[in-house]
Amino acid sequence: MTPSSSPSVKDTDAALIQAAMTAMASAYAPYSGFSVGAAIRDEKGQIHIGVNVENAAYPQGSCAEAGAIAAMIMAGSRQITAIAVAGKGDLLCTPCGGCRQRIREFAKPETPIWIADENGFREGFTLDTLLPHSFGPDHLETP
Ligand SMILES: [Zn+2]
Repeated sequence: MTPSSSPSVKDTDAALIQAAMTAMASAYAPYSGFSVGAAIRDEKGQIHIGVNVENAAYPQGSCAEAGAIAAMIMAGSRQITAIAVAGKGDLLCTPCGGCRQRIREFAKPETPIWIADENGFREGFTLDTLLPHSFGPDHLETP
């Protein structure tokens, strides 16, 4: 954790983190037992939540972040200004590789990603810290 690339704890978004923690309880994770909740704050200040949804055909499961992004899109928003992810365990429940790219589609490199567990905030990152030198929509701007 470096001061230049990690958002300060004082900047944490308590309501967003709480939303992710609350969502975690609604996850559908009968196979792994690993429940995850995600909460996005959009450009209008609205919060959108998602949970992981597992499937008996394992690859068909989806992540909490994907659910929250879908909810944000459904609400007509297009910008992630902050995202919180909550999952239990000693290890930080950071977004998986695929979700880092999903977040990248709608977030700026400096967008904060707050990680929590069932007891509260654990650590903050920026998207650029978790997905450096990323490929995004700006690479595909039409001439
Ligand atoms: Zn994921």
